[in-house]
Amino acid sequence: MNQKQWKDRLPKLAFLLMLISCVVLSLIFLLRSTERLGSNAPAGLYTLVIDPGHGGFDGGAISDDGSKESDINLAIALKLRCLSELLGQPILMTRSDDSASGEYSQYSEHEDLVRRTEIVNETPAAILISIHQNDFPTSQPSGAQVLYAASEGSAELGRRCHQNLIALLDPQNRRVAEPAPKALYITSHVSCPAILVECGFMSNNFEVQKLCGGSYQCSIALVLAGSLLQYLNESEIL
Ligand SMILES: [Zn+2]
Repeated sequence: MNQKQWKDRLPKLAFLLMLISCVVLSLIFLLRSTERLGSNAPAGLYTLVIDPGHGGFDGGAISDDGSKESDINLAIALKLRCLSELLGQPILMTRSDDSASGEYSQYSEHEDLVRRTEIVNETPAAILISIHQNDFPTSQPSGAQVLYAASEGSAELGRRCHQNLIALLDPQNRRVAEPAPKALYITSHVSCPAILVECGFMSNNFEVQKLCGGSYQCSIALVLAGSLLQYLNESEIL
């Protein structure tokens, strides 16, 4: 390579070097943050229970293109599990594959919900994030909405998650975090801080496309993981 060729390539090489430095610095920062978080979260202080709604025989809401709510719920939940593991958080899943939460000879939605609720209530110092998708008779409604249980801490966690979902992913969304209706079994029957996140509408084809995409699922999981950390800090649990 002659001198001129070197000169031509210098800006590209400098940019590449800068990019590599940025990636290395980011990794060092991430690892240090993870170490700090890990050391601040002693085992047994709390356990994040992630509940991907529906599953197995029960696909939940089905979109026009045949996408199942249960699959989207699970995909987001598994990404949230990954991120939470990276942060050193103790985690439990009510299901981690395409099945209902228990073993039944005859599937019953009610028994499935009872079993999930038992898992939460049997977990010491649990914090529940249940993941679902919304549905409506018309295709217009869109946007995430967080519903929170009546138990202590639920409203704070719910509002934090909802605010961040809107601010970071969907600033046009005018929905607000609301108390979960009594008819929602799991949020009405657990005693720990508990929220149910409706990430979007299965009845809105544009939103379903986004919800089926890995990067949007990752963004939702990231917002939930970050919001939980904020809640833990604000509640002085961490
Ligand atoms: Zn659902």
